[in-house]
Amino acid sequence: MGPRLVGGALRLFGPKGALVAAVLLGGAYFLAPPSIKQALLGAPGGPSSGQGAKVCDVSEDNAKACDFSRAVLASTEDVWIEKFAGGELPAYGKAPPKQYPKPTLVVFSGGVSTGGCGNATSATGPFYCPADDKLYIDPSFYDTLAKRLKSPGDFAQAFVLAHEVGHHVQNVIGSLRFEVKGETKEQISVRSELQADCLAGVWGHSARADLSITDDDLDEALQAAHAIGDDALGHTDESKFSHGSSKQRVRWFRRGFDTGDPRKCDTFAVEKHSDL
Ligand SMILES: [Zn+2]
Repeated sequence: MGPRLVGGALRLFGPKGALVAAVLLGGAYFLAPPSIKQALLGAPGGPSSGQGAKVCDVSEDNAKACDFSRAVLASTEDVWIEKFAGGELPAYGKAPPKQYPKPTLVVFSGGVSTGGCGNATSATGPFYCPADDKLYIDPSFYDTLAKRLKSPGDFAQAFVLAHEVGHHVQNVIGSLRFEVKGETKEQISVRSELQADCLAGVWGHSARADLSITDDDLDEALQAAHAIGDDALGHTDESKFSHGSSKQRVRWFRRGFDTGDPRKCDTFAVEKHSDL
């Protein structure tokens, strides 16, 4: 990872945004030092905490990637705390809580064992484990995204994290394990992934106002959504799609981004799968 991330982070969290991030991180640190460390690096003494701290310290690039990931996570928390408090989430069976339970970020390198989702390697890319409410990221993913998927922008990188946070939001409101009668596991997965894209868009909507996101940044995120769409990754059998087509992913991201309303992200309310 080159200096792009620094420039990117500085641009994304420009004058106003930097202040927002600093206030958030600084404020949280002042109030409860152990919990912010726990939130950013995993539980002290847990299987991944030493690993997380080491990974972030191993190189300057990793340190930047860790800082960037933390700043993005803080920004998503800002948005979701407000949306949950305002009762703006779609409901699945029961009313969503008013208080947003923050996920924990685990930074790992090479491989990691999760608390209930098995073992994973860097090849998995960033992911969320609903069993332990943790987001896992290997800093080398930013490189992969930049080189292999040709989506090098900082907002694109942030979007991928915001998508994983979207899965956490789904876990909280109950849509992550929602059953749809008569649909295959893959079809339900597409609904779930498109909702996570839309929820990432909702974050982008709010972040755009707070962090001065430009049209270029938006293009980059859409390019990332496109690049990680099932068809762009080379899957051609539509019945095996688990993330949705690039076109669908862009459409649902835009819906969240344009409206800023999580209730518009109810992919499970779309009756016919072909209408997604
Ligand atoms: Zn996903």
